[in-house]
Order: sequence, then C-alpha cells, then structure tokens
Amino acid sequence: SLDADWTRRWIVLVADRIAERKAELTHLDRDIGDGDHGENLDRGFSAVRARLDDLDAAATPGAILKLVATTLISTVGGASGPLYGTAFLRASTAAGDAETLDDVLVDVLRAARDGIVARGKAEAGDKTMVDAWSPAVEAAAAATDARSALEAAATAAEAGAAATEPLVARKGRASYLGERAIGHRDPGSESTALILRAAADA
Ligand code: ADP
Ligand code: MG
Ligand code: MG
Repeated sequence: SLDADWTRRWIVLVADRIAERKAELTHLDRDIGDGDHGENLDRGFSAVRARLDDLDAAATPGAILKLVATTLISTVGGASGPLYGTAFLRASTAAGDAETLDDVLVDVLRAARDGIVARGKAEAGDKTMVDAWSPAVEAAAAATDARSALEAAATAAEAGAAATEPLVARKGRASYLGERAIGHRDPGSESTALILRAAADA
C-alpha cells in the first residue's frame, strides 16, 4: 500500500537516482539550457533527504510531500524549483491527511501536473516537463489499481520525455534556441520520468 513508508522510500529513491544521474541531467540541460538541471535537483533532493530524517515518524504521506515541496522551493533555484515545488505542494493538498495514497493516487498526480501548468503556463508540446506529466496522468487514470497506475504513469512519462526530442521549445530557456532545440530531449521531462519511475519501483 502507498503509505508513509512507501512515500519515504519513493523520495529517497528519487534522491539516490538524481545523484546517480546528475551529470546526465545536466548534460541534457547543457545542450538546450544553462547546464544546471542535475545540480539543481541534486541540491534540492539532498536537502530533502537530510530533512526527512528529522520528520516525525508518524508523518502522513501528505506531510512528507509537503516537506518535499517546501524544501525544493527553498533550495532549488531556476525554473524547476518553483515548478516541482508547486507540484509537490498541490500533491500534498490532494493527499490531505490520508494514511495511504491508494485511493487518491490519480488525484495526487493530476494535482501535481495542474500545479506545474498553473505555475509555468506550458501547454502540451511546448517541450517541457508537462510533456512527461500529462501522458503520465492520463495513463494512471486509465489504470484499474494503484500499482498498475504507477507503472503506467512511469512508462508514459518515459515515452513523453523521448517525444520531446523532435520538438521546438515554446517555454523555458530552450525556447530561445528556436530550431536548434530540435533533436535534444527536454531535461525537465527526463527528470519527471525519473521521479515517476522511482514511484513505480518504490
Ligand atoms: P533553469 O532553466 O532555470 O536553469 P532547470 O534547468 O532546473 O531551470 O529546469 C529546466 C526545466 O524546467 C526545463 O527542462 C523544463 O522541463 C522546465 N520548464 C522550464 N520552464 C517551464 C515552464 N514554463 N513550464 C513547465 N516547465 C518548464
Ligand atoms: Mg537549467
Ligand atoms: Mg539555471
């Protein structure tokens, strides 16, 4: 069940994988941005990991998600800090004080996606992290249980990230490059796929 222990495992797995793939995420951002996406997220999730240890052992999934949100907002600069911060804050609100996310998983994922869209105003096909989040939410909504929803969301996010490669960017730094962004994967869509794959694996 997607209880508080699962939520902690998920977030620690995200922190581990971001640390492992920091250089790769930064490399993607070097191609079409300012080359800091891996460092930005590693700084943020390292801080999250440190603060998780201080969190009350009885913290609900929603309280854990709120800690992630406030930590990312205060430690990650750039575009992705406020965007992921808003995503986790909305997710926390959607989780409420539920002991598990099993019955609210799709609401939680949708709230995260909607928060990113409200904050960044990107539409589908703008070559941003929304191109990973939106197919993930749709795939999760079509699944019959939480376990398969997570698996479907991760797979859809990975496909969505790959599908950003041929696009011209209309939001974020890559939008300054025009056609030169074609052929490069959006770094934020790749980190979204990482976050959702970690959720499926946790
Ligand atoms: P910065 O571009 O400020 O250096 P990061 O490199 O950490 O920040 O994050 C860049 C990522 O943020 C992009 O790859 C993209 O996925 C995402 N992004 C940027 N602007 C927007 C936006 N308006 N809406 C959604 N996502 C965005
Ligand atoms: Mg950057
Ligand atoms: Mg930057």
